[in-house]
Amino acid sequence: MRALRYHGPQDLRLDAIDEPTCGRDQVKLNPEFAGICGTDLHEYLIGPLIIPSEPHPLTGEKVPVTLGHEFSATVVEVGSEISDIRPGDQVAVHPLLYDSTCGPCKRGQPNCCATSASIGFHASTTGGFAQQIVVPRENVFKLPPTVSLEEGALIEPIAVAWHAVENSPFQQGDDALVVGAGPVGLAVIQVLKARGAGRIVVSEISTRRRELAKELGATHLLDPRAPDVVAKCKEICDGEGPAIVLDAAGVQAGLDLALNASRVGATIVNIATWKEQPRLNTLALLLGEKKYIGTLVHVKEDFAEVIEAMGSGLIQPKAMISSVIPLDDAVEKGFKALIADKDSLVKVLVKVQDH
Ligand SMILES: [Zn+2]
Repeated sequence: MRALRYHGPQDLRLDAIDEPTCGRDQVKLNPEFAGICGTDLHEYLIGPLIIPSEPHPLTGEKVPVTLGHEFSATVVEVGSEISDIRPGDQVAVHPLLYDSTCGPCKRGQPNCCATSASIGFHASTTGGFAQQIVVPRENVFKLPPTVSLEEGALIEPIAVAWHAVENSPFQQGDDALVVGAGPVGLAVIQVLKARGAGRIVVSEISTRRRELAKELGATHLLDPRAPDVVAKCKEICDGEGPAIVLDAAGVQAGLDLALNASRVGATIVNIATWKEQPRLNTLALLLGEKKYIGTLVHVKEDFAEVIEAMGSGLIQPKAMISSVIPLDDAVEKGFKALIADKDSLVKVLVKVQDH
């Protein structure tokens, strides 16, 4: 069987590797659709960054690793200890691995585990871009019949947005500003809509992305280059500005907008990984008693809640899928296409199986 593996920067290979054997408490899966994410692109271009060059303390593995951490799959075999999941079941995989023993793990923040690892970055044979993998039972989530395998591949990125909102003081009816409508920003918009936000204001430069933001639930669109963008944002939100800002852009102008256009007492949530460290206007933070907080990926509860919201139709993310390509084309029509055209492409899904 084949697996798309990372050997080094700009060196992805479709390697022939051995099929894995299923342990007693494991599930063997055929990954079906796997998304390519910004972190994958970052690793591809200038990595290895989170991909381990030395044996990882949790998985003991290092490059080459199999990529793919946003994926759906079909169950092909279950270990002898497992009775609540069967061959043929359609599932999504929560990719995080953690030690369960460190302080953050014990306090309910396994996403910040001291030795955290992820399927799709930290294992040589286990990732969404391999045709067969085994994973622990606890990482497998059954899809409801109303969620397709294509949509199943979007659960992971949407769970990032779910966790960000969950981690904030957001309450139903709150107005929110979303800075940046890339894949993460678009996921945030859908989560805010599903959780009953008031106005969902989106600031985004790209026209195509603004259109998608509208389609997925934005109520007001801003072009951050407009000279009166701060005043406009306040005006839309009762003259005071939004109570919550979610920054999915990670650029200085976006952070300035977040601080200047939000109301007194607002919370600004950083979901972005910044290329350059910003200047934080601490006086604006102080004068408005604003809070600036961070949020990292997701925990299993977020995954389950996103699946429930998708199953009941509260989140319908199909518009995020820009294209579906075969595994053979993953580098050319996936990684390279996304790098060349990040304004019009959102999620490129790789169809992992040959059938
Ligand atoms: Zn831990």
